[in-house]
Parts: sequence; C-alpha cells; structure tokens
Amino acid sequence: MPSMLDAVVVGAGPNGLTAAVELARRGFAVEVFEAGPAVGGGARTEELTLPGFRHDPCSAVHPLAIGSPAFQEMPLARHGLEWLQPELALAHPFPDGSAAVLAGSVGETAMSLGPEDADAYRRLLAPYLGHWDTLARDFLRTPWDGLPRDPYRWARFGLDAIQPATLLSRRFRGEKARGMLAGLAAHAIAPTSGPATGGIALLFALAAHENGWPVPRGGSQAISDALAACLREQGGTIRTGTEVKRLDELPPARAYVFDTSPAALARIAGLGRAYQGYRYGASCFKIDYALSGPVPWTAEEARRAGTVHIGPTAGEIDAALHAAVEGRDPRVPFLITAQPSIVDPTRAPEGSHVFWVYGHVPAGWEGDATEVIERQLERFAPGFRDVVLARAVAGPPEIAKRNANYVDGDIACGAFAGLQTVIRPKLARVPYATAHPAVFLCSSATPPGPGVHGMSGHHAAKAVWRRLRETGPSGRR
Ligand SMILES: Cc1cc2nc3c(=O)[nH]c(=O)nc-3n(C[C@H](O)[C@H](O)[C@H](O)COP(=O)(O)OP(=O)(O)OC[C@H]3O[C@@H](n4cnc5c(N)ncnc54)[C@H](O)[C@@H]3O)c2cc1C
Repeated sequence: MPSMLDAVVVGAGPNGLTAAVELARRGFAVEVFEAGPAVGGGARTEELTLPGFRHDPCSAVHPLAIGSPAFQEMPLARHGLEWLQPELALAHPFPDGSAAVLAGSVGETAMSLGPEDADAYRRLLAPYLGHWDTLARDFLRTPWDGLPRDPYRWARFGLDAIQPATLLSRRFRGEKARGMLAGLAAHAIAPTSGPATGGIALLFALAAHENGWPVPRGGSQAISDALAACLREQGGTIRTGTEVKRLDELPPARAYVFDTSPAALARIAGLGRAYQGYRYGASCFKIDYALSGPVPWTAEEARRAGTVHIGPTAGEIDAALHAAVEGRDPRVPFLITAQPSIVDPTRAPEGSHVFWVYGHVPAGWEGDATEVIERQLERFAPGFRDVVLARAVAGPPEIAKRNANYVDGDIACGAFAGLQTVIRPKLARVPYATAHPAVFLCSSATPPGPGVHGMSGHHAAKAVWRRLRETGPSGRR
C-alpha cells in the first residue's frame, strides 16, 4: 500500500467509477467511498417487488452508455457487460392503435411517421448518420480539449441542437413526428419550448440509428459491476456502506473527486456558498412493476420496443412538463416506460416480466401519482392492471433518500433551464475543478450532464491527473 493515496473518489455512480478507473489505469492509487450498500448509484438492479424479479430502480435503457467514448475504452465486456437490443428502440403509441417508432433503420422510422413527414425526418438525420463517434467525442468534450475533430458537422449539429424542440418540430406537419420528437426532448425534464431540448431529441434519435437503445443483460447493475471490476483489476479499492460527511474523515490523498451534488460537495469540502446559485429541477414519480405477463399494449409496435413513451401529443407532453416544473400536481403525466424483460429472460421468472415507468412531478412532491399513471397506461394497454402482481412506488422523497445526488428527487442532479442548460455547475474554464486545489467534482452536475455514460467522470479524471502531474511526486504504484 502506498503511504498516501493519489485520489479518493466519493460516490460509486457511473461517473465516480469511471473517474476512478481512468486514474487507476494511469497508475494512480485510488480508493472509492460509497454511501449505498452496493456500487452503481443510478445504475443498479434490485429485487424491489417479489423474489426473482430484478428491477432497475433508476436507469434501465442505455443509448448513451453503449455510445460512450469513455466506456468504449474499457474492457467492460470482459467483465460481464452484454448489451441486448430490443427489436425497436422506441414506440410512441397513439389512441387509434398506431405508433411512431424509432427503429435501427431510418427508413422504417421515417415511414412510421406517415408520408407527410417521412422525408423531413430523413433530411433531419442525414447530415449526422454514420458520424456518432466523432459527434460524441466533439459534443461530450470540454472547452479546453482543442478544436472539434469535425468542425463542420460540430457546428451544423450545434445549430440544430440549440433549438427548442418546439422549433425543430416545425419541420414536421403531422402529430406523429411532433409527438415523438416532444417525447424524446422530454428526457431533459424541461418544457419542450426550452433551449437545446431539440438537441436532446436529436441526440436520442441519432443514438437509436447508430448504436440502438440497449439494456444490459441482468440489469443496469451489470454496467456498474463491470466498472468496479475494471477498477479492482487496476488495483483500486471500493468501500461501500460509507457515507462521507467531512473531508477530514477521509484518508490523506493528493486529490478528492466528488461524484455528488454540488450542494453536498460544498458542505463536505467546506466550500461555503460556492454553488449557491446552482438550481435543481423537477422530479419523477417512479413505479417498478412485477407483471404476470407482458404489457397488453394495443399498438403491436409497443410490444416489440424496449422503451415506450406515453404522450401522446406534443401538446400533452409539453403541458405535463410545464406542470411538473411549475409545481402543479400531475393530471395527465407524460410517461417514459421500459420493458427490459422482453429481451432479457433473466430479469423475471419464466413468462413474467419487470416493467418500469415514471412520470414527472414537482420537486419534493409528496403526493401519490399511482392512479394517474395507471389511468394513462390503461388508455394504451387496456387490461394492464390485470397483469400487475406487485408494484414498488417511489416519489421524490424516496428517490432522494435512495441517492443523495437526487436533491428533492431531481434525477438529473440539476435543472435543465436557463444558462444551466449549457453551463454547469457554474461558469469556469475547468468545470470539474473547485476553489480547493485538491477537490474536484465529477457527477452529472458537470458537463455533459445526466445519463449513464461516464463522460463527466472521464473529463474530471483528466483534470485530476493534469493537477497531479503539476504537483510533483506521487504515491504511484
Ligand atoms: C428513475 C431514474 C431513471 C433513469 N433512467 C435512465 C436511463 O434509462 N438511462 C440513463 O442513461 N440514465 C438514466 N437515469 C439517469 C442516470 O441514472 C444518472 O444520470 C447517472 O446515474 C448519474 O451518474 P453519477 O455517477 O453522476 O451519479 P449517481 O449515479 O447518482 O451516483 C452517485 C453516487 O454517489 C453516492 N454518494 C452521494 N453522496 C455521497 C456521500 N456523501 N458519501 C458517499 N457516497 C455518496 C450515491 O450513493 C451514489 O451511489 C435515470 C435516473 C433515475 C433516478
């Protein structure tokens, strides 16, 4: 054991683990402290309902993980990570029993939007198809990383991406394309008239055509377990069940990397009001179901899709997001649902299924949205309640209790609003550095933001090793 650690990482979410792996891989001595009983943070799997039903309490579907430049450089497959691709990435059903879909093929997707919008969809995606790898590197980068590799496409994508989804959707005439675009944009947990919500929609659509929207065999825990195995292989250590409350209770180290909210970082590291202006956003009401059979969707496409969005129209989706952000009770929530067991039989006993759904609610909301969520599900899958064996319900207080990063139940660890849409956690040349020279932030409160992709951890690790190199002798192994 070295006398002094090079880096202590607080929090074993995807970003904390990625930062730890990247530092350990460069020969630095790293130890991770995690408050929860297991590694993973927002990428975990648990038996939340009945024995044999393996649910993902947080992330379930992983277009950003499979396309992550950071994860692509790690031997995650050797450590058990296997991606399973549903036949369709997404179905977006309508009350007449039809559905818009995101398929691997742009043609199939375009046709599902109807003849009036098929060509507009093809035109929207055409400049970016086949360029995920460079776009991901250029867009998931930090400002000091030099010029983009593909400046033309980077600028063109930027011009499309900065638009609100409501503006981008003017390229379409029909409700199917507009509804699907709004549903994709709503992953930002912000009204679809907000800046850059069009970019979120475009990113998710492109991801479906380039790498799919896969689920990991066995559940999201497989991603975190593979990251943890990479770290241990490089000599790093992990202590679970250890909530860090003060910097001085940690072992001496040359750098401390926080996979926490900015508020927790400021409290633990004594940074005072450094992140006082940082805003947290609306929350979610999440239900994990154990089902006796598949969801009885009316739309046949929805039975083949890993993810199903229940809007259905752009107007209804925008209204649901407005209600959540403006503090009103959900009445007709927009639902994001995932059905991983349609491709992964290991998730539930034979013939039965796990099913995951959330709708948006105000930050800290203490109500029960089960009834409004199930009413929406019954609209598009009549008889849904008849297949429910058990449900595990989590509103904002439970979501926040499960993971301190989800302040008031904000699963994005920071609002997608105003300047914070592009600048988080605050304006700085190196957003991962803090006022304390040995303290860094690597959570999804830093660029490029939420999702399981590890890129915040990757960039933070870069900032750390640059600092460690500058500060001289190390306890390198
Ligand atoms: C309901 C829900 C659904 C989601 N769905 C998806 C999805 O389908 N696909 C997707 O890509 N993303 C999804 N996400 C988002 C994704 O889970 C997060 O963006 C991602 O996990 C963020 O990673 P992170 O490492 O920054 O933080 P987290 O994953 O939140 O990990 C932070 C870790 O730090 C630990 N920690 C915090 N404070 C301390 C402390 N003081 N001491 C010790 N440990 C501490 C926490 O316990 C936690 O383990 C979802 C999130 C939720 C909640």
